[in-house]
Amino acid sequence: MKEEKSRLTIGDWLGLVKLALRGIINREKGVGFSSKMRKCQRCVIYDPEAKKCRPYDGSDIGCGCFMPFKVALGGGCWADEEGVSEEYVGWKAK
Ligand code: SF4
Repeated sequence: MKEEKSRLTIGDWLGLVKLALRGIINREKGVGFSSKMRKCQRCVIYDPEAKKCRPYDGSDIGCGCFMPFKVALGGGCWADEEGVSEEYVGWKAK
């Protein structure tokens, strides 16, 4: 299994800046932090130890984001944005 580096790359930093700008522009999306985090914690893609939207390092599933940070900045759900409609996956899942 491929290990991911623990240091952030330029691409990671650019992604964080993009998320921060999106969070500033769409402040209302940050509302409901606890509710969104509860949905992530029920999602089968979520890694509860790393708090990431990725089941394990090296997986192609999920955005790989640190979800408390992404939600706080107004980011969306990877599964919902990708149109995944599976039970127990995504913020739209019941
Ligand atoms: S797919 Fe959506 S609900 Fe699941 S961990 Fe990622 S952001 Fe959270």
